[in-house]
Amino acid sequence: MSASDHFRSNEVSEKYRAHRDTGALEKSCPLCDTTAVIGYRSWKIIPNEFPYDLIAVVHDMIVPLRHVDEAGLTDEERAELIEIKNSTLGTYDIVVEATRHNKSIPAHFHLHLIKAKSGLGRT
Ligand SMILES: [Zn+2]
Repeated sequence: MSASDHFRSNEVSEKYRAHRDTGALEKSCPLCDTTAVIGYRSWKIIPNEFPYDLIAVVHDMIVPLRHVDEAGLTDEERAELIEIKNSTLGTYDIVVEATRHNKSIPAHFHLHLIKAKSGLGRT
């Protein structure tokens, strides 16, 4: 069980594990292959096929167009990400990055974009 399973319903967790166990995550990169909902100069926002559906009503991800990890990002890409965070990403509630040992796709940097379900946390 990975930490992200705490945020997924059993149904989505099982779907994710079944997909992962086919070896699909090693064969091709789903972050490269998924079509953008919104495109930027060097980033794109894509839907998460296996959302954290226990906490999120919307679960997208922002990823660089290039298949690189965080260390591989250029200064221009980092600067654009900060611009996007301060503009577009305001439509989400939280931005989440998995820590190293929880990353399912460590080779392609990605941040999770969550619109939280109402009723979470203090009101
Ligand atoms: Zn990739």
